Amino acid sequence: MVCEMYAEPKDMPVLRHFRLERVAEGVYAAIAIEGAGAMGNAAIVDLGDSTLVLDTMLTPQAADDLRAAAEQLTGRLVRYVLNTHFHGDHVQGNQVFADAVIVATRRTRELMAERTLHDIERGQAHPEKGAEQLRKQEEELAGEQDEARKRALAADLATWRLFDAALPALRLPLPTLTFDTSIVLQGAQRRVEFLTIGGGHTHSDAFLYLPDDHVAVMGDLLFVKSHPWMGDGDPEEWIRILDHVETLDLRTLVPGHGPVGTLEDCARVRQYIRDSLAAVRDAMRAGTSADELIRQPVPTAYAAWDGSETYRWNMRFLHGYLSSTGESEAGED
Ligand SMILES: [Zn+2]
Repeated sequence: MVCEMYAEPKDMPVLRHFRLERVAEGVYAAIAIEGAGAMGNAAIVDLGDSTLVLDTMLTPQAADDLRAAAEQLTGRLVRYVLNTHFHGDHVQGNQVFADAVIVATRRTRELMAERTLHDIERGQAHPEKGAEQLRKQEEELAGEQDEARKRALAADLATWRLFDAALPALRLPLPTLTFDTSIVLQGAQRRVEFLTIGGGHTHSDAFLYLPDDHVAVMGDLLFVKSHPWMGDGDPEEWIRILDHVETLDLRTLVPGHGPVGTLEDCARVRQYIRDSLAAVRDAMRAGTSADELIRQPVPTAYAAWDGSETYRWNMRFLHGYLSSTGESEAGED
C-alpha cells in the first residue's frame, strides 16, 4: 500500500531546528529551517537493527533535536554517524553523538582536524571577533531596504547568534572510522553504501547511496534551489562526480541545502557550474577584474535561488581558479 507506506507516522516529532520528511520507509530527510541553528540538512536511516545519522548540522542544539528524532523514529540509539565533508554546518553537532561510530573519508577527517577544528579553536580564543561579526550583520540588516534580502540577512543573523552561544562549549569529535573509496553498512532490513568519487564541493565529498530505495543523501554535492558554494573545491571534478551520480538508479535525492529533490536538480547544479565557469572565462578574456566580476548581477536562470551572496563568492573563486590553471590565457573552451 503505497499511501500507507508514505503516510507520515502519527508520532512524527515536532522540532525547532528542521522539519522531517520521510523519503522512503525508515528513511528521513531532516531539512534545515532557516535561521534555526541547523543550516545544513541531515538524514536519519533505520537499517532494521541499527540506526544511522548522516551529518550533524551547525550547532549541538540542532544535533540534540536530530538525535532525539532518530531515537524516537527508530526506537534505538544512533550507532553510526556519517560526515559527508568537513564544513562546520555538517559536522559541528558531532559531540552530541560522541558514543557512536563516526565515519568519514580519510581526507575529510584530515580536513576536519586541520580546518574545522582550527576555526572552532580560533573562535573560542577570540570571542570578540564573533561579537564584532554579529554587530556588522546587525548593522547590515538595519540598513537593508530590499525585503527578500532583509529576510535572508535576519535568518543568517539568527543562526550565527545561536552558533555564537554554542561556541564556548563546542567540541569536535573526529571520525573514528575512515575509508578511501566506500564503506557498506549491512543492516537487517537494508544495505547502504557510503562512498566517495573524489572531491568537487570540497577536496573530499562522500554521499550515501540506498540502492533498494532509489535514494541518495548527497551532502553538499547537491544544493536545491540555492547557490552551491564552490570556494573550497574543484568545479570540474564536481561536474564529473554529478555525471557519475546521474548513472545511478535514483528517484529521490536529499541535498545538503534546500528541499528534497531529484536527478533534475543534479543536472541543474551541473549546468550552474558550467554556466559559472563560462561566465568567468568570457569575463577574463574581456579583461574584467575579479572586483568587477562580483558586481555583475546573478543570471536570470538563478535569480530565484537562495544565497545570491554565494554567487559573488563563486565568481571570485572561479576567477582565481581559472587564473591559477592559466586556462583563460590559453583561450580554451
Ligand atoms: Zn559544504
